[in-house]
Amino acid sequence: AELYGVNTWGAGYFSISDSGDAQVTVSIDERDVSVSLMDIVAGMRARNLEMPAVLRIKNVLDHRIKVLNEAFASAISTGGYGNVYRGVFPIKVNQQCHVIEEIADYGARYHHGFEAGSKAELIIALSQLRDTDSLIVCNGYKDAEFIDLGLYARRMGYPCFFVLESLSELKVIIERSRILEVEPLIGVRMKSSVKVDGHWSQDSGDRSIFGLSTAALIGVVDELRAADMLHCLQMLHCHLGSQVPNIRNVRNGVLEACRFYAGLVAEGATMGYLDLGGGLAVDYEGARTNSTHSMNYQLEEYCVNIIESIRETLDPQGIDHPVIISESGRATVAYSSMLLFNVLDVRSSEPLALPAVLPGDCNETLKHIFDVLNVVGTGNFQECYNDALFYRDELRDMFNHGRATLRERAMAEDICLAILQRIATILPSLARVPPELENLPEMLSDIYYGNFSLFQSLPDMWAIDQLFPIMPLHRLHQQPDRQAMIADLTCDCDGKIDNFSTATGTAATMPLHSLREGEDYILGVFLVGAYQETLGDLHNLFGDTNVVNVAINADGSFDFAREFHGDSIADVLTYVEYEPKHLQEQFRKVAESAVRSGCISVAERQQILRAFHDSLNGYTYFEHH
Ligand code: PLP
Repeated sequence: AELYGVNTWGAGYFSISDSGDAQVTVSIDERDVSVSLMDIVAGMRARNLEMPAVLRIKNVLDHRIKVLNEAFASAISTGGYGNVYRGVFPIKVNQQCHVIEEIADYGARYHHGFEAGSKAELIIALSQLRDTDSLIVCNGYKDAEFIDLGLYARRMGYPCFFVLESLSELKVIIERSRILEVEPLIGVRMKSSVKVDGHWSQDSGDRSIFGLSTAALIGVVDELRAADMLHCLQMLHCHLGSQVPNIRNVRNGVLEACRFYAGLVAEGATMGYLDLGGGLAVDYEGARTNSTHSMNYQLEEYCVNIIESIRETLDPQGIDHPVIISESGRATVAYSSMLLFNVLDVRSSEPLALPAVLPGDCNETLKHIFDVLNVVGTGNFQECYNDALFYRDELRDMFNHGRATLRERAMAEDICLAILQRIATILPSLARVPPELENLPEMLSDIYYGNFSLFQSLPDMWAIDQLFPIMPLHRLHQQPDRQAMIADLTCDCDGKIDNFSTATGTAATMPLHSLREGEDYILGVFLVGAYQETLGDLHNLFGDTNVVNVAINADGSFDFAREFHGDSIADVLTYVEYEPKHLQEQFRKVAESAVRSGCISVAERQQILRAFHDSLNGYTYFEHH
């Protein structure tokens, strides 16, 4: 557990079982129920749901919604706050149908609503309407069609807010609401001047591309007043950025938002709702610091800070406490999904065929480097390092000039590797490692080839250097004996994972176990429920992975509540405008002409066409047959 830090980033959901498997623990009827992830993997195999796969745990998603709502409820009651909390889930964070349906079903007890940033997302939100206490918040730029949909929701009695991004949008809202004779609920998105830590610092500040400047905000008030619609202005919206790691930023952001809120009340707007956007962080590192992938606060503290900051600003002015809305996405869904993949192969940096003695007739350079191997030790490792690289390069030069054979070059490179390996074993005993040797363990680490595409399944790792915790699903009671980085299936040098969280910071490699003959080695990338699935792309035409939704029962059994088979090759080819039937026909012609020219028999033609057909309908990832 120490090694992979699961006790720090697992948030109580993930841990290691007595038998050394990764396990998920959920609370059912006030009792903790744990299930081995390897048992779930066995169930997936039996159902033909091969790796790679996304595994979602329904109970974890439910629990996240519960703790978010209950933490706010408790801060509200202990803080003497005079209104309620209404969460809305930002659909963009995970638009997958069963995630959204689960949030709507389970969230109904807390009137948890949705935030939509586009027409497509609004259509999703409208399809999930359950009760007239759950909010729909519409952000983003809205055309007349978008606005009409929101107004129809209003007509049916649902609280659907339009958050203004620009003044031009307001004109359309006023016009459409008059035509449809429906009063809109309007919010304004402010630009916060609070600078936040972390990756998303540009979501706030004067140059943020979102929100209205203070002057534009006043413009909205004036225009609404002129249209006799100032009573429709009921919400202030403020989003500081996603993954805000520092609680002080949150507090400052809320304080500023409350000043704006009070200012709008003073202008005569009805108000009543304060939407604080997203930003509630996830501690991907388990470090509890204000670094980008961590957070220096707990959920309870976040809620208490918000309640206190609102009271601190509004109470002295005698302003009624607003309904508090938050659009927490990441903190709601990150924990509930993990990516599982098997390791296909390992490339180690061990010498392949180190000779015990050199052939008598070999060249001088080879003899020199072999001598270095025989003397390398604690007292002379730095000199040996320099010599080894010198002789290896000299031999490469000779080879390039035709003065050494391919076999001699292979031997020199293997001997050099052996010398570097020995030096690497000396380094941990040193008080100070020479700077040029600091990267040696990393250079000598293994590469574990995983059956997945980073671009499809973990796009933020590529795009923004996001850290996700990674851990084998089994063998966790065995000391890992290798250090490795992970490469994916794409032919892209960016398709690798070489930034891992450790107990003392980040490292370029992670400890893993040697593969065992005939046995799968399965790794899990945890906390991937937010943003990854839809942002993923089709690099090298690796498509959507298999997905399973598991619901854990009180007796420790589990149900495969939903399962989806990932894209077939035919599916991904249609995304890039191929027509699978046409491809099959084109290939049939190729095979037929091979028959005509006598290259293959008709029986072989049939066999080849069957293989083509099977591949076309198969998984885009590596398959074991
Ligand atoms: N609301 C808005 C307007 C956003 O832009 C975002 C994402 O950046 C969110 C909510 C969700 O943020 P988070 O996932 O940090 O909760």
